[in-house]
Amino acid sequence: MNREQSSALYKEAVKYLPGGVDSPVRAFRSVGGTPIFMTKGKGSHLFDEDQNEYIDYCMSWGPLILGHADQDIVNTIQETSASGTSFGTPHRYEVQLAKMVIEAFPSIERVRFVNSGTEATMSAISLARGYTGRNKIIKFEGCYHGHADFLLVAAGSGMATFGTPDSAGVTKANAQDTLVLPFNDLNELKKCLEKESEDIAAIIMEPVPCNNGLVLPNDGYLEGVRELCDRYDVLLIFDEVINGFRLSYGGAQAYYKVKPDLTTLGKIIGGGLPVGAYGGPGKIMDKVSPDGPVYQAGTLSGNPLAMAAGIATLKKLSDGRVYSELKNLAKLLYSKLEPTLQQYKGKVLFSQLESIFTFSFTDIEKITSVNEVQKCDMAFFASFHGQMLSRGIYLAPSGYEVGFLSAAHTQDDIERTAQAVKESLGEIL
Ligand SMILES: *Cc1c(COP(=O)(O)O)cnc(C)c1O
Repeated sequence: MNREQSSALYKEAVKYLPGGVDSPVRAFRSVGGTPIFMTKGKGSHLFDEDQNEYIDYCMSWGPLILGHADQDIVNTIQETSASGTSFGTPHRYEVQLAKMVIEAFPSIERVRFVNSGTEATMSAISLARGYTGRNKIIKFEGCYHGHADFLLVAAGSGMATFGTPDSAGVTKANAQDTLVLPFNDLNELKKCLEKESEDIAAIIMEPVPCNNGLVLPNDGYLEGVRELCDRYDVLLIFDEVINGFRLSYGGAQAYYKVKPDLTTLGKIIGGGLPVGAYGGPGKIMDKVSPDGPVYQAGTLSGNPLAMAAGIATLKKLSDGRVYSELKNLAKLLYSKLEPTLQQYKGKVLFSQLESIFTFSFTDIEKITSVNEVQKCDMAFFASFHGQMLSRGIYLAPSGYEVGFLSAAHTQDDIERTAQAVKESLGEIL
């Protein structure tokens, strides 16, 4: 496969952009090789600068549940932009999208729109601190919540521990206010809350972590976290930037029937344009400026194009048909892969939840902890990624990322993908 144009552009890009990219994983560092410069997306397919075509499973990292350049979304953006791209005033689309989000998420009574998931989680945590008057937060190993300083802290051991900065530029003070605990471990959480709950404003978590492979919550785990939050009077924030409108129309909280205090959203609710949101009950959200003392603002927040694209997306999702289609596609993918997975049992694990999936190179049968993800063989993933790419399948360029099915994927895509997986694994294993 010829990728000369991509290579040439990348050589130029690194002169002007750090690492040649605007978001690090795009740089292909963990899989090796040169990032591919895309020119066009249509449906489930991406097209690059050298006219190669790929079946895409990265789907812009989650937002594109309807596929690339869905005609309704494109029309909406074109029509809306003809009337202006930003007013800096209230407008009807933000009210309409807020209503749709609140109808989909009964735990949300009021919502504030921002421009990214990072802004959403950062603001939700400031709000939790402002509301409770406490400083510390708990996050879980391997959960990614955007790049705010106090959230860029991962973990040392699996024990409750004061965080150490994961990223240069994060101050010790910031890191110290973030306690990091193992996911799926109620005992550690209980021990930590027993000791520290009076200082803890909130627990933030991805109900289903999707940024460190795909880690599924154990049965009863999310309910258990909710109970502990109630018992120790700590706010629970579900970061549903990926899970929201992905696992179901009501996100992970409807899927698992567990209600958080605050919810953060992003990705799908912008229909492919930059967006984020945080919301919860009025008694908490009323602390946000201008009603309350927690200041938070944005020049382009609630941007009419992003709001309109979000409305158009949610309209297509609200009757549930897309979710049944995705369920069928997910089943088809599994059934087509099954013979190959049987053949390489004990070497490759295919994990799947609704339209989210991942390939891990491990002998473990079900991944429930971050430690298990850390033990997966990322060198094998890198070879697998390269093999799939050369067969026209675009997976996210890191073994720690998940893949997404969209409503635009077809039976033919799935069959070609299963064949490519078979050949790729045959080459490397
Ligand atoms: C992507 C993501 C974020 C950050 O969103 P951005 O729009 O990239 O800032 C936060 N939390 C989760 C769970 C995410 O997947």
